[in-house]
Amino acid sequence: MVALDTKVTELNKVGKVLANRLKHLGIETTRDLIFYYPFRYDDFSQMKKIKDLQAGQIATVKCRVDIIANRRSPRKRKVLTEAVVSDESGEIKAIWFNQPWIGKNLKAGDEVYLSGKLSGDLFNVYFNSPNYEKIATFANTAFNIHTARLVPIYPLTEGISQKQIRFLIKSVLPLTDQVEDFLPDLISKKENLWSLARALKAIHFPQNPASLKKARDRLAFDELFLIQLFSQKLRQELNQAQSRPIKFFEAETKEFVSSLDFSLTLDQKKAAWEIIQDLTRPKPMNRLLNGEVGSGKTVVAAIAAYNVALNGGQTVLLAPTEILASQHFKTLNKIFPPKIKIGLITRSQWLINDKKISKKEFLSQCQNGKIDIIIGTHAVIQKAVAFQNLVLIVIDEQHRFGVEQRQSLKQKQKGDLVPHFLSLSATPIPRSLALTIYGDLDLSIIREMPKGRKVIITKNVPTDKRQLTYNFINEQIRAGRQVFVICPLIDPSDKLGRRSVTQEFEKLDKQIFPYLKIGLLHGRLKSKEKEETMKKFLANEIKILVATSMVEVGVDAPNASVIMIEGAERFGLAQLHQFRGRVGRSQHQSYCFLFSDQSDLNVLSRLEALVGCHDGFALAQKDLELRGAGEIFGYEQSGFSNLKIANLNDLELAKRARERAEELVKSGNLDSYTSLKVKLNSLDFISHLE
Ligand code: ADP
Ligand code: MG
Repeated sequence: MVALDTKVTELNKVGKVLANRLKHLGIETTRDLIFYYPFRYDDFSQMKKIKDLQAGQIATVKCRVDIIANRRSPRKRKVLTEAVVSDESGEIKAIWFNQPWIGKNLKAGDEVYLSGKLSGDLFNVYFNSPNYEKIATFANTAFNIHTARLVPIYPLTEGISQKQIRFLIKSVLPLTDQVEDFLPDLISKKENLWSLARALKAIHFPQNPASLKKARDRLAFDELFLIQLFSQKLRQELNQAQSRPIKFFEAETKEFVSSLDFSLTLDQKKAAWEIIQDLTRPKPMNRLLNGEVGSGKTVVAAIAAYNVALNGGQTVLLAPTEILASQHFKTLNKIFPPKIKIGLITRSQWLINDKKISKKEFLSQCQNGKIDIIIGTHAVIQKAVAFQNLVLIVIDEQHRFGVEQRQSLKQKQKGDLVPHFLSLSATPIPRSLALTIYGDLDLSIIREMPKGRKVIITKNVPTDKRQLTYNFINEQIRAGRQVFVICPLIDPSDKLGRRSVTQEFEKLDKQIFPYLKIGLLHGRLKSKEKEETMKKFLANEIKILVATSMVEVGVDAPNASVIMIEGAERFGLAQLHQFRGRVGRSQHQSYCFLFSDQSDLNVLSRLEALVGCHDGFALAQKDLELRGAGEIFGYEQSGFSNLKIANLNDLELAKRARERAEELVKSGNLDSYTSLKVKLNSLDFISHLE
């Protein structure tokens, strides 16, 4: 019997192939299906009589198929399915392109709903590729799902159709009654929220816009409420905790700052000052340093780490990738005096200030407090390392830094002292929203970009200008600059791949720039290879780096002045903005060229938004608006990876969720709500803004 958490492979009509595709979407069980929300809806709720239909409308008719047939289009490229349908008021034509099975599924005499757009003109109106649904198929299953209603549209990959996913979700919908509703009654009453089961049903198949709103409110409230509850609990814990206050080494800090080959911006100084202030207190710091890509967050964190080191304390710097860890290692080695011992841990090697040492030696030095700053990804640091005196943890662009990791680092030293926490993030978020969602977090913001930075010239390049772009790249390289080429996917066998990174690499390496050194970087390479390539790129040996999205965050190669993005339509605007941030990190005029494999006007106009806009927040918001345009991006790309349904515009709801969470935490009754506690503990939640 199908129950909650049954594997989808056990469902009717789910074979191996489909199961695999579902897995790509993160759907493995019936529960996953239930929690797979639509990202928009087609409104096909307007029922009409055929005689009243007009071109340009979107409508539904209940009708009978009179004639239906497939034929080849004149140039034989397409299969055209044509039907004539009628109701008591009249008849109308419907056509579909390249879906020959429709000509088999529907037969003359079938009673159907047709929903969709009406094309044509005053004299000749017809349905253009409408959704259809046989009345007989849902007559005994209670309701229609593809037509004559608000029809859900899901974020999908190729190989799964909207019809398939709707069918599957409908088939498991009764299981929503078994999902445990963790929200205390008191709160759902006070907030006038629907039950979870009701909201889940309606988010997929809403009766009308009002019920859709109720469903959305409930589900968004849940997300925001859990974040609030989490952060307030954390706050409570931190309030009771102690950490080691450090002393501010003013003269040394000034000397350090003046040794840099640039002067700090005002915002950088202010942020550094705020952080140092926190560190001099015996309460654990819990601070987010937020600033646009390239605004110079690293050096601010470095100032804090420097002071910790001068106090004899240790700092851990966690990077999202090994490449970034190595990069930070290199940067800090360059700017700190040699007396500061900096360690790098990767999967394969252990370095202290550029000397390779054995793992054993590394671990013992770390445990004895001899390494001042330890850099690595959390995966590697967590495994083995213990500390003597861990004072500060800096988390760089870490999108999934959860409680668990935090706990595990905390326990890696003797005594009850809790380290100070500093998160660095370029996730664009306005202050008011940050404070509402992550209420109890201290916030430092760097708004101002370093002096001398030029606006990155961004262009949508039509395919026929590709050669010109290569010529331009050639010139840039001759002038001493370097270039990134970003491709969506790794290997050509991936059917979704348009321009795979290896193919592109081969092409550039063998045909276009045979005389230049070109590097390749993607997730499936060994970490040694990645490091080697990155090192050569940073040393300007490699002139063009062809890479997947793995260089999205953090990579700092100031000499690079061009980033060329293939298949740009496959990325969200906020993500493209992150890519763009890989260039323009020095005084050199920089360029971002967007290539797309589609000539669709919608796609192009979406990409056009990047041309005039350099504000990450505005772009993230634009992404949100455009979700309706049928483009699909992971929620992660909006920067809120644990928000599936709540979004940047839910300020009001976030406020209410915050108040309810506050009341609950203050009441001291949290422990009596078992399913809520279970839910809270099951989330590998962020403690900070992601
Ligand atoms: P992000 O905030 O994106 O992490 P980084 O810290 O990597 O940015 O800094 C981007 C680049 O800007 C680095 O090469 C860094 O050395 C440089 N930089 C940082 N602060 C300044 C400044 N005040 N003036 C000039 N260059 C700076
Ligand atoms: Mg950075």
